[in-house]
Amino acid sequence: MAAAVWTERGRRAVTALGTVTRASHSTVKSQYDALVIGGGCVCLCVQAAYLQRGGVKTAVLERRHVLGGAAVSEEIVPGFHFSRCSYLLSLLRPHIYSDLELKKHGLKVYMRDPHAFTPMLEEGVRGAPPRSLTLGSDLAMNQKEIGKFSQKDAKAFPEFVTHLEKLAGAIHPLLDAPPVDIPGVTAGSLRKRLSAAKTLMPIVRCGVLQLNIPDFYEIITAPIMKILNRWFESEPLIATLATDAVIGAMTSPNNPGSGYVLLHHVMGELEKEKGAWGYVEGGMGGVSKAIASSARSHGADIFTEKDVGQVLVGSDGAAKGVVLKDGTEIHSRVVLSNATPYVTFKKLTPQGSLSPEFIKAVDQIDFTSPVTKINVAVDKLPNFLAAPTPDGKPGPHHQCSIHLNCESVAVLEAAYKDAMNGRPSKRPMLEMTIPSVLDPTLAPPGCHVVSLFTQFTPFHIEGREWTDQDREAFADLVFDWVERYAPGFKGSVVGRDILAPPDLERIFGLTGGNIFHGSMSLDQLYLARPLPSLSDYRSPIKGLYLCGSGSHPAKKKLLNNSKYVLYFRFLKVATLCFVDSTANPWPSLNELHDVVT
Ligand SMILES: Cc1cc2nc3c(=O)[nH]c(=O)nc-3n(C[C@H](O)[C@H](O)[C@H](O)COP(=O)(O)OP(=O)(O)OC[C@H]3O[C@@H](n4cnc5c(N)ncnc54)[C@H](O)[C@@H]3O)c2cc1C
Repeated sequence: MAAAVWTERGRRAVTALGTVTRASHSTVKSQYDALVIGGGCVCLCVQAAYLQRGGVKTAVLERRHVLGGAAVSEEIVPGFHFSRCSYLLSLLRPHIYSDLELKKHGLKVYMRDPHAFTPMLEEGVRGAPPRSLTLGSDLAMNQKEIGKFSQKDAKAFPEFVTHLEKLAGAIHPLLDAPPVDIPGVTAGSLRKRLSAAKTLMPIVRCGVLQLNIPDFYEIITAPIMKILNRWFESEPLIATLATDAVIGAMTSPNNPGSGYVLLHHVMGELEKEKGAWGYVEGGMGGVSKAIASSARSHGADIFTEKDVGQVLVGSDGAAKGVVLKDGTEIHSRVVLSNATPYVTFKKLTPQGSLSPEFIKAVDQIDFTSPVTKINVAVDKLPNFLAAPTPDGKPGPHHQCSIHLNCESVAVLEAAYKDAMNGRPSKRPMLEMTIPSVLDPTLAPPGCHVVSLFTQFTPFHIEGREWTDQDREAFADLVFDWVERYAPGFKGSVVGRDILAPPDLERIFGLTGGNIFHGSMSLDQLYLARPLPSLSDYRSPIKGLYLCGSGSHPAKKKLLNNSKYVLYFRFLKVATLCFVDSTANPWPSLNELHDVVT
């Protein structure tokens, strides 16, 4: 069980128990054109809003009582509204707002600037507080901050930022289109091959945009430390940058591929600011709510508490709809699965309709995750030794991602090694955010919601299941570390919600607890995501598609049909809601076209 507890003090502090974001319950029809399994943010957006808007009668079936998947707001402690999993928004392209009219549908974002605060755990010198590093959009301020640790690094930093921005920009063409069609390019008639060759264009554009191909190749494949050590010398700066190279991933900054993870986390854009991240008013469920509202306004049916038990496969081997766990059959011409590839093919698809080789390949997909999310309700703002704000008023650093236990890469490496040895880190890497310093709707006056994204924690502890005692012990350990940086934190806690990897799997359907629906290792990206045979979103079952973040994002217009142009305009924005999320642009639009016209 996930541990969600609140103290008596918490009970007294708040009295009103709000409501979760339930979907309206119109009656499920027995037949749709398209059914979407799962009401995660991206799929809601794509399948419901886009397909429905294109005239395809669509229904979304979410098994939980609340929409949004991992982009959800929940009132776990009375009066405190948490972004229970995902907590920061980035790749929401400017055209999302206009295309989906998300502002009209209630989406409000608070920009986060400065964005990173790394306090040191050290004795201050001659009465001075411990040092800290704060980074934001103001380059001069960044240089001043970095200069506290190294003048050389302060000088190099602006060039590094430009370099990284260029590398991040070059990857966009790959995100914006389905992966290259390898079978199409290498087999079949010349006409077919030429047609499939169009899928090579994004790679060409990526190469053209990226004039420095060796640097691009290096950041995709190298350990991030190889790159950072070339640019910088100060540990707090290197470690702060390195956190983005391991966040959400069971990897170390010294492992190959961590460079790509860093790139992944800096290629966003929010409110026209490159690489910017922000908080959604009311929590991340606010994105899902706005998207669902947009979808409904076009007539999509969206249901919660509809747990899909199985995809119905007809005698012709094609998907015919789904059967819910309560036995209700719902028929459709196509089925899109927002569940992870593992859940889709091992739990929801009749195993007899898949080949043993395919099932084995699905078994080999890596879903390892290092993440335990702890949501904390506090009745006092944390007060950091390194940047004291004694009057309880937030300082600029309170709106940042606050990096604790990130003074050096050696600390991160040790934390990773603990988990690789089967145990939660003794000194875990902690990313703390306090969205309520910007958004007063989240907590009662004077109180705050604190999100602790922690790693590294394995799915099994030395080969056995997590117990409630393990969860509490890990949260206690995390709080002890926070207390060292911000004395008084432990005494301010009025409630906590602990989500270890097995809880993320059980509650949110995230296989292995993996926040990306599959590790972002080099062997599981682009044309190998989630498997080489599934890179075009089609499954071995005709009419069954993957649309969640376990597959590669894509947002290109594939069919020259005005009816579908609209879809793709939407897909274009939807797929980048979350960089790691994938909106399926109907690689088989022709198939869909045949079905619905
Ligand atoms: C702890 C955590 C922190 C994160 N932080 C961030 C962040 O700060 N920023 C960011 O951009 N991303 C973050 N992410 C990742 C982000 O949340 C995901 O990329 C995004 O939610 C993926 O969206 P999705 O629609 O593909 O899938 P999901 O959000 O996983 O949704 C899948 C949905 O399918 C439903 N489902 C599964 N099986 C069935 C079934 N049988 N019947 C009906 N429904 C079913 C599930 O209940 C779920 O609602 C985080 C994720 C986690 C877990």
